[in-house]
Amino acid sequence: MSSFDYDLFTIGAGSGGTRASRLAASKGARVGLAEESRIGGTCVVRGCIPKKFLVFGAELAQAFRDAAGYGWTVGATSFDWPTLRDNVARDVTRLSAIYERNLVNAGVEVFGERARVVGPNQVELSSGKRVSARTILVATGGRPRRPKELPGCELALVSDDAFVLEKLPKRLLIIGGGYIAVELANIFNALGVEVCLVYRGHTVLQGFDDDLRIQVHSDLERHGVRVSTNTTIEGIEEKNGAYEARTASGTVLTADKVLVAIGRDPNTEGLGLAEVGVQLDAEGAVTVDAYSRSSVPSIYAIGDVTNRLNLTPVAIREAQAFVATVIEQRPSMFDHGDVPTAVFCTPPAAAVGLSEAQARKTFGAIDIYRTSFRPMRNVLAGNEDRALMKLVVRADTREVVGVHMVGDAAPEIMQMAAIAVKAKLTKDQWDTTCALHPTIAEELVLMRDKYVPPALNTMG
Ligand code: NDP
Repeated sequence: MSSFDYDLFTIGAGSGGTRASRLAASKGARVGLAEESRIGGTCVVRGCIPKKFLVFGAELAQAFRDAAGYGWTVGATSFDWPTLRDNVARDVTRLSAIYERNLVNAGVEVFGERARVVGPNQVELSSGKRVSARTILVATGGRPRRPKELPGCELALVSDDAFVLEKLPKRLLIIGGGYIAVELANIFNALGVEVCLVYRGHTVLQGFDDDLRIQVHSDLERHGVRVSTNTTIEGIEEKNGAYEARTASGTVLTADKVLVAIGRDPNTEGLGLAEVGVQLDAEGAVTVDAYSRSSVPSIYAIGDVTNRLNLTPVAIREAQAFVATVIEQRPSMFDHGDVPTAVFCTPPAAAVGLSEAQARKTFGAIDIYRTSFRPMRNVLAGNEDRALMKLVVRADTREVVGVHMVGDAAPEIMQMAAIAVKAKLTKDQWDTTCALHPTIAEELVLMRDKYVPPALNTMG
């Protein structure tokens, strides 16, 4: 019989923490879990799930506009934010309760309070109770970053606040050019808010393939978001019930709300980790090895708190690998390569594998297959949204190492394309697949001509 109170004590009930705890308990481990906020974490409570509901709500605005070309008279439409906000909140509450029930049913002992690590095998709860565990799992996630160096940053909203706004602002200024800034700019713009997105770089979504970035950037502007690039905000002030953001060039941008979306910080503050010898990186993330083990052998960490690849399905896979390694004694590691990802803008963007630039750097010679077209659905609708598809192929082996897409259902299509990329299928194998007509996705198996950038195209 173990001398510890628990085989596993998890801190944080987000996607990673709940999955690891539930799975460990189902394998017979005695598991405790502490969560100071609501069960479900960022994904369920203030991220992916409520965001996707807002995306569905926002997409209807375009659907109403598209309907006329198909013969429908929709009539006057109006949008009521409190209805959407409260319906979303209700479903979040329902999901959070399901997560909690699943934990309890699996036999996990849940403590609704904050926990702190006080020794390699010791956790202290905010009630003062101390428990011991053979293994401690830190799965505390992250939180929106507030730039401390920005005067007035405390006046700005962060993504958490977007789901609980009392009313929609007339004018919203969003600072940032990553996933959250782009997604929220699209949502609020579609819901009728005048959105200005201020980005310090030249094209949003740095890190994605350049063609995808250019398309998303121009789609944002075409849909009515004012995008101010190469712009840095130096201070925010409240004036006459509105907010003024001063740019480095001296311009003043006025809005009813300002929202910062400039990345997320790992939640390690006040957790006691450094005090017990857990190594943290410069950003405060827990440094772990391929098995998610920290520098203290009895303490592991998974998910956003490790700042590897901050996506829900990744945290879940890290949790599964952790349970296999620690509870089942079957060393397993999650391969962080070729993880598909999507930005839920309008139309959505999605990708898996290497961008053109990354592939060129890695392999030298690559071939690009690319197409851009107006999807059939948009033609009668008079909707100018275009689809972009791009395959990045290793010239020597013909392996498809990257797929990039902007267009309706891009995230759904990318989930399937990711199987082919993960399986290292070659372009010629993609080409043997018969098209499914008429779809957008069929273009992925129909591109035959290598793309030659205009500058290299000597045929004119
Ligand atoms: P991102 O890391 O995606 O983007 C941060 C953005 O903020 C970049 O445009 C960056 O500019 C800019 N930035 C960073 N620091 C500053 C600064 N000091 N001043 C001005 N701008 C700054 O972060 P997000 O907050 O958008 O999202 C956090 C993470 O959450 C994502 O990386 C992703 O892992 C996850 N997420 C995933 C989603 C999905 O899967 N659909 C949706 C939402 C979030 P630059 O490009 O110049 O560095």
